[in-house]
Amino acid sequence: MVTFGATILVVEDEPELASALERSLTAHGYRVLSTGRGEDALGLFARAHVDLVLLDLLLPDISGLEVCRRIRAVSSTPIIVLSVKNSEHDKVEALDLGADDYVAKPFGIAEVLARIRVALRRLERQNGGSAEEQVLIGPLVMDFGRRRVLLKGREIALTPTEYELLRIFVVHRGKLLTRQMLLRMLWGSASHDRVHSLHVYVAQLRQKIEPCPGKPRLILTIPGVGYRFSDEVEAADQFNCAHP
Ligand code: CA
Repeated sequence: MVTFGATILVVEDEPELASALERSLTAHGYRVLSTGRGEDALGLFARAHVDLVLLDLLLPDISGLEVCRRIRAVSSTPIIVLSVKNSEHDKVEALDLGADDYVAKPFGIAEVLARIRVALRRLERQNGGSAEEQVLIGPLVMDFGRRRVLLKGREIALTPTEYELLRIFVVHRGKLLTRQMLLRMLWGSASHDRVHSLHVYVAQLRQKIEPCPGKPRLILTIPGVGYRFSDEVEAADQFNCAHP
């Protein structure tokens, strides 16, 4: 179990923000390592056991993107990027480089804590859970062993690409997937011509698995970035599509 007492490396050069994060994380039972410099962050990361990295992108020495790239070259430790509003491009680039998620500044601490919990839960699943045979998400059952998908107990027919897209979403549920990452995972390259096809497949999949395709609760759109498959739906939640 990594969720309690997990060690979080905070890489943030604004002293007030860094100490606010440090205080809140410590109060929530996390151990905190903190630095305002990218090179120091890499040094700490190499020396200490770190379960998760909170990473500001604008640092005084090397960029957060470089820190992200160098951590990802050696480790799959979750990285959550702290990005300022006007750096859309950097944020998406960080995600393409393998960051797991982002929180836009200015942020509420509750939002950061929630994203940390999701990332640590996914890490736990990966460490403990090798190949999951079946995954239940609300009304949906993904049966990897028999390669089939049930919605409210009924098998639904998916094309091979739809199945593969859903498999990617479910395996990475909770994680923010950029369009580039999805294109690479589906078709091996991130050619821009494929972006439209991706949107079409997502729309088709929503028609088949979302009880209310117009108000998706499973495949969530993250504007300007990509998609996130919900990790927050309870197994008992049957999503009745209520029309008021
Ligand atoms: Ca900064």
